[in-house]
Amino acid sequence: MTFSKQTSLLHSKHKTDPHNGAVSVPIQHASTFDQKDIDDFGDYDYARSGNPTREALEDIIADLENGTHGFAFASGMAAISTTFMLLSAGDHLVITDDVYGGTFRLTTKVLTRQGIEHTFVDMTKPEEVAQAIQPNTKMIFMETPSNPTMKITPIKEIVKLAKEHGCLTVLDNTFMTPVLQRPLDLGVDVVVHSATKFISGHSDVVAGLAIVKDADLAAEIKFLQNSFGAILGPQDCWLVMRGLKTLHTRMEASSRSAARLAAWFLEQPEVEHVYYPGLKEHPGFDINNEQSEGAGAVLSFRLKDKEAVRKVVKAVEIPVFAVSLGAVETILSYPPTMSHAAMSDAERDARGISDGLLRLSVGLEKTEDLMEDFARAFEKIRLEEAQK
Ligand SMILES: *Cc1c(COP(=O)(O)O)cnc(C)c1O
Repeated sequence: MTFSKQTSLLHSKHKTDPHNGAVSVPIQHASTFDQKDIDDFGDYDYARSGNPTREALEDIIADLENGTHGFAFASGMAAISTTFMLLSAGDHLVITDDVYGGTFRLTTKVLTRQGIEHTFVDMTKPEEVAQAIQPNTKMIFMETPSNPTMKITPIKEIVKLAKEHGCLTVLDNTFMTPVLQRPLDLGVDVVVHSATKFISGHSDVVAGLAIVKDADLAAEIKFLQNSFGAILGPQDCWLVMRGLKTLHTRMEASSRSAARLAAWFLEQPEVEHVYYPGLKEHPGFDINNEQSEGAGAVLSFRLKDKEAVRKVVKAVEIPVFAVSLGAVETILSYPPTMSHAAMSDAERDARGISDGLLRLSVGLEKTEDLMEDFARAFEKIRLEEAQK
């Protein structure tokens, strides 16, 4: 019987240890493995190339994304930069314009030094993607919903364009997770994750993942993983597997709460705009519904200006004010000085990342408590304004 994602998260083939029945994958710290003979090696030789704990995580994530091969890296950026190493000098990359700040930095400040050029495009508009494709374009990099303005890329349309031009497609699925969106099923070649976020979910590990279903591509990424060596250590692999067990339940609860909060923020006079693909007003609402099973647990909202942001950040009690997202605790962040600090003012302006923008990653607190917390913060601003 094939299980639903919710069940298979708990009943993967690594559910119990075949040696002793332990209901947790053992953490194998060994850096090397004893071999029988000069030309008769076992499954593992040196732990950068392969480690049983890492392999368990890689199997589990491959299954979840409906792929065949998973790869675990030391961070989301390690997964993304290793994937970019599929490109060579002289190649060109088309990439979402409001991509995660770290990916932006890598593309503009590192890949350019390796002779890999790029064009940023608004991926909500396939015609702009088509225009940006050059004879040497080898990869199209998507992130949907985008960060932090939550724009929705029509995945199938971009995949179709890529196939017509012989380009690889890569999608950063950090915001949705395989519980809500499985890009490999839509034809994407490589899915990447910052497993630091929802996949681990407890703000206690930095990790990255890449997943493919094509055997040749898997061999190439395995080669790059071993060559660059930015692998995830066994202890951290275990933490990611531990977090994964509750991924479905966490995504369900946090998404439900995020949807209610998004609707509530819409009604607040202090809030000028709410960015959440689960709102009917969102331009990507229909496409997101078509290609995923929910709108996720991250939303952004815009206040009047930086001063209003400062006041709200000071006044709220529940959210952690921090860089990151996707945790059990609600995280409030300020993209201009946090996730998107790598962009210049002009680059942020062009992407609609204004000074009044806050991003909220909704955790597992009671929704009403979060509403009350923000209501009090807004009320405080109102009172201060009235006293002026
Ligand atoms: C955090 C994040 C990354 C980078 O991941 P790290 O684990 O911090 O290296 C990449 N993409 C998105 C969408 C992210 O939120």
